[in-house]
Order: sequence, then structure tokens, then C-alpha cells
Amino acid sequence: MRVMKIICPECGVKATIKKTNRKHEQLSDIYCYCSDVECGHTFVMNVSFSHTLSPSAKSKNRIVKDLISWLTPDQKQMALDLLNNPA
Ligand SMILES: [Zn+2]
Repeated sequence: MRVMKIICPECGVKATIKKTNRKHEQLSDIYCYCSDVECGHTFVMNVSFSHTLSPSAKSKNRIVKDLISWLTPDQKQMALDLLNNPA
């Protein structure tokens, strides 16, 4: 697995992640320190969710469950008929 590479913004040397503070499900603060002892820079980077490339199988199942819960009895019957007799 590829790990995230953090570069010290002061000197350009590889930095090490000390801890991660998950502020929100889509946003984390990454506490880093420069691996160059002569630099010694410690800093915080933000990592945020950008966008989905391929949807999660888990969210697909949730969408189906949510959709079924929103349907009226007539619509549920219609969905059942469609599933039983696909066009
Ligand atoms: Zn540095």
C-alpha cells in the first residue's frame, strides 16, 4: 500500500506524521515534523475528502434501503412487480 508522502514546506525534505486529528468525517489535521534534524520544522497539514471515483458498495446498499423506506405501499408493490418481471 502506498502511504501518503508529506514534504516539509520549509526545506522540501520528507516529513513524518506524528498524529492525525480527525475533525470531521471528511477533514483531518495531520501533525507532521520534518525528518531533517537541522530543520526541525513541525507543522499541521489539512487532508480533506475531494470526490468519489467509484462509489462504495456500502453506500449502494444504503441507497437501496433508504429508497425502499421512502416508497408508498403502491410504489413498493410496483417495485416488486418490476423486480419479478424485468422488462
Ligand atoms: Zn524541513
